[in-house]
Amino acid sequence: MQRLFKGGSVVSGSGAVRADLLVDGERVAAVGLDLTAPDAQVVDVSGALLFPGFLDAHTHFDLDVANTTTADDFASGSRSALRGGTTTVIDFACPNKGESLQHGLDLWHRKADGRAACDYGFHMTIDDWNDAIRRELPAMVDQGITSFKLYMTYPAMMVGDRDLFSALLALKELGCIAGVHCENSGVIDALIAQALAEGRTGPASHPACRPGPLEAEAVGRLLRMAQVADTPVVIVHLSAAESLAEVRAARARGQTVYVETCPHYLFLHEEVYRREPYTEAARFVCAPPLRPAADCDALTAALAHGEIQTVSTDHCSFTLAQKDMGRDDFTKIPGGLPGVESRGLLLYTLVAAGRITCGRMAQVLSENPAKLYGLWPRKGVLAPGSDADIVVYDPTADTVLTAAGQASRADYTPYEGFRAAGSIRSVYLRGQLAVDRGQVVAGPIGRYLHRGLPAL
Ligand code: MN
Repeated sequence: MQRLFKGGSVVSGSGAVRADLLVDGERVAAVGLDLTAPDAQVVDVSGALLFPGFLDAHTHFDLDVANTTTADDFASGSRSALRGGTTTVIDFACPNKGESLQHGLDLWHRKADGRAACDYGFHMTIDDWNDAIRRELPAMVDQGITSFKLYMTYPAMMVGDRDLFSALLALKELGCIAGVHCENSGVIDALIAQALAEGRTGPASHPACRPGPLEAEAVGRLLRMAQVADTPVVIVHLSAAESLAEVRAARARGQTVYVETCPHYLFLHEEVYRREPYTEAARFVCAPPLRPAADCDALTAALAHGEIQTVSTDHCSFTLAQKDMGRDDFTKIPGGLPGVESRGLLLYTLVAAGRITCGRMAQVLSENPAKLYGLWPRKGVLAPGSDADIVVYDPTADTVLTAAGQASRADYTPYEGFRAAGSIRSVYLRGQLAVDRGQVVAGPIGRYLHRGLPAL
């Protein structure tokens, strides 16, 4: 079947261009002015922006963490993603320490296969480093896993500097890339012990125990290791202005550094942790924590200047009842925010405000993550031969974000009542209508994406 989208503007990393778009089956067949196709169904998209389906390279669906399980699994999480214009997610397969990578990968396929409504791939978490894990890496690449996650904090997942450095070298040999959670573990533990000893047990202690300089220290240390290893790395969910300075210093030395941030670090400030009662603050607990407003402005400026390559969500959703687990001790609050559904609307709000261009939006939501994670040009662009993943964005009708209006099983949104610029009129996944005026109409048609090597 052919569909001809007429009257819109097609957006890419270089901006929006007036063009019609012809889709044949699952793929884009042509992009250009005044296209004709006698047998095609014509879709009038006058006045709309046609974005390449967004990729979210940082989600946690169906994850067991902090003695509970995330509210969203692959069924609800992928539907939430689609409603927000995200047609591809890359989730983190997470074996526990002592388990093989293959065990983690098999487990994540069981969670996702046949259940996801959008396309999906996996990063692999390396929370243990030894010869057996090292020997598994080529088999991971053979199965489409070319990016790996390492932690510099969290006792259950972190590896030390020696193992982190060794893993960077092994990944470099295969042409793979590491994304690293950068926070100084030891000093955070000391600050937490001090806060609890002094009876400061509420959510306000959360940002106080994980301050920006302790992210920047870990970013700087990682980037010095990457300098010696002579390999590019990804800083995942960068949140602090001090960390940007470390990235700039490494780039000035000639290093290749990829930076990911998240919408919550651009739109939400740490003041929320002082809200009362408890649940009004606990709902915002995530790591790294939200930062002062000045950091949000610094990150938004860096985004505008091209210093940040991807904006992902770190979607890790819990209900307010789950967030209640830390009422007597903030360290027991399950960390993470829902966000996979609101990212496109929030980023377009920056476009409408003149803070970033729509070309930049397409870069950080589609083009760059597709290249960085080995999916280009199948994903991330609307060009002949690419998957027909299309977000039909109406820049004129605003959207008010509410918990009641979302597909996520989290029973709140961090952006309750926020008026986002424009709205998502419809979403197509590989040529199929997946979202029609806010309703997810796609079944579990998502496919596993066998990813190639990073090439940004
Ligand atoms: Mn994460």
